[in-house]
Order: sequence, then C-alpha cells, then structure tokens
Amino acid sequence: MDLTRVESHRFAVDRGGLALRPGEHLLAGGTWLFSAPQPEITGLVDLTALGWAPWEVPPDGGLRLAATCTVAEVQQAPWPSAGLARQCADALLMSFKVQSAATVGGNLCLALPAGAMISLAAAFDGEVVIWTPDGGERRTPVTEFVRGPELVDLLPGEVVRAVDLPAAALARPTALRRASLTTHGRTGALVIGRAEPGAVVLTVTGSVPRPVVVALPAGSPESAVREAVAAAGAGVGWYADPHGAPDWRAAQTARLAVEVCTELAGGAL
Ligand SMILES: Cc1cc2nc3c(=O)[nH]c(=O)nc-3n(C[C@H](O)[C@H](O)[C@H](O)COP(=O)(O)OP(=O)(O)OC[C@H]3O[C@@H](n4cnc5c(N)ncnc54)[C@H](O)[C@@H]3O)c2cc1C
Repeated sequence: MDLTRVESHRFAVDRGGLALRPGEHLLAGGTWLFSAPQPEITGLVDLTALGWAPWEVPPDGGLRLAATCTVAEVQQAPWPSAGLARQCADALLMSFKVQSAATVGGNLCLALPAGAMISLAAAFDGEVVIWTPDGGERRTPVTEFVRGPELVDLLPGEVVRAVDLPAAALARPTALRRASLTTHGRTGALVIGRAEPGAVVLTVTGSVPRPVVVALPAGSPESAVREAVAAAGAGVGWYADPHGAPDWRAAQTARLAVEVCTELAGGAL
C-alpha cells in the first residue's frame, strides 16, 4: 500500500538517529506498516540500518534476539533445541518473502494475539529490552510488555532494542499445539508448555488478548489442567475476531493445554 502522506524516509544508523521528529514513525520490516492506511504518518525512520546482530549469546548464556532480527533469522539462531522457534515461525503462516522482512520487534510491538514471536519469547520467560529517550534502558517481561491487541508498554520516544531469553528456560523441554479455523488460517489458539522440575508452565496466546501464563504441578490431572486454563482465560477474557469466537477459542485452548501436558508427561496424564 502507498502511504500517501509520507514525505520523508531516513535510516537511523545510531541511537541519536532514533529521536523522532513530529509525524515520524519507526519502520522495521514494514510488513504491517505498509499493509494499512497510516494517515497520521508523514515520515519513516528505518531501523534496519542500525547494524544490530540478529542474535547474540550473552556471557552468562541465554539468547538475545535483536528487535531487527527477522522471523527467518530467528530460526537460524543457536537455540539449544530449534524446534519451538521453527514451530512459532510456521505459526505466522507467512510467505518466505514476508518472513525475511518481518521482525521480532515489529511482531512484539504490533502485539496481535496471533503474534507468534510473542508466544515464543513469553514461553521462554523473555524480557523486552527498551531504549529510553534519555539514553537509558529499561527491561520488562514480555508478558507485561504486551497489554492487548496493538497495545504495548512503550512510551513516546522509546524503542525496543531486543528480547533476552534466559539460559535456564531455554534448556527446558517444550511442547506446542496450535488451532486455527482453517488449515492455512491465522492462529486462533496457541499453547506452549515448558517442563520445569515438578511443574509445567503453560503460555497461552492467540485465544486471549495478551499472553497468559499458567503454572501447574507436574502430573496434574486433565480436569485440573482444564480448570486452570479456563480460569486464566476468563480472567483476561477470551478473544473474539473473525479468526475465532470466544467459546471456540476457550474450548480449543483447553484441548491444546491437555495435549501439551500429556506430551510433556511422556504420553499420559
Ligand atoms: C502475509 C502476512 C501474514 C501475517 N501473519 C501474522 C500473524 O499470523 N500474526 C501476527 O502477529 N502478525 C502477522 N502479520 C503482521 C505483521 O507482518 C507481523 O506482526 C510482523 O512481525 C510485523 O513486523 P515488521 O517488522 O514488519 O513490523 P512493521 O510493520 O515495520 O512495524 C509494526 C509496528 O511496530 C513498530 N515497531 C517495529 N519495530 C519497533 C521497535 N524496535 N521499537 C518500537 N516500535 C517498533 C512500528 O513502528 C509499527 O508501529 C502478517 C503479515 C503478513 C503480510
């Protein structure tokens, strides 16, 4: 789509270049920004020339994904086990062209319920690293950063720099299940389970307006899994849009959660 009011496009090459002038807006991969009218935007500040490494392994382990890391690059990062990253990338149902442009930061900041980079980062206890306009930095858990569809914890002038995933969470076994109304449709419900010693941590996205985390004792019976998921979903409200009605999403989420817990328990609850 042509953004008919845009009069300027500049690349930010350092932190100073991220200061926005009136009418300017941050541009990452542009896969969403160029897909809808943006009448209030008169200038674009492109993040893709900042030269951030797509991923880094910090000295204390874990994994840092740069905000400008593309969905395609996410799958090449040095994950202890690459399966979950690939499944989340596939959950976005993007063509390879879109995957090569769409970024982790764009997915987080768009904050759609079907944002599978949000699912991935939340499932591994990710923390969003935010550059503040005074030259500082603050950090916030992904689960608190995303507040609802197209609503995030970002103040004017702030920029998402990266998402940090801790080594301890990355090392744990995981399982993912996803439901969609149609074979190639957008995610209606997505559940990721992470096995911790004595516990299972479920991250629910797609069916709720923002990520919800449910921790259960390992080996919880099916009824307890269903009950906990139902209560967590009801707490934030089941999401409704053309990709699924709330009651369908609630039922799918419960089914997926049971499947995830069963897989992590080795086949039986
Ligand atoms: C075919 C197709 C399928 C799609 N499927 C899905 C899907 O299943 N789920 C889903 O969630 N989305 C989907 N999208 C929407 C969108 O493409 C993705 O969410 C994508 O990850 C957005 O990333 P981007 O880099 O293109 O962001 P952009 O379009 O460049 O930016 C999106 C927003 O984020 C802001 N932003 C970007 N980076 C930063 C940063 N570092 N700091 C602060 N603000 C920033 C921008 O200012 C803008 O407001 C789809 C799009 C297409 C074209």
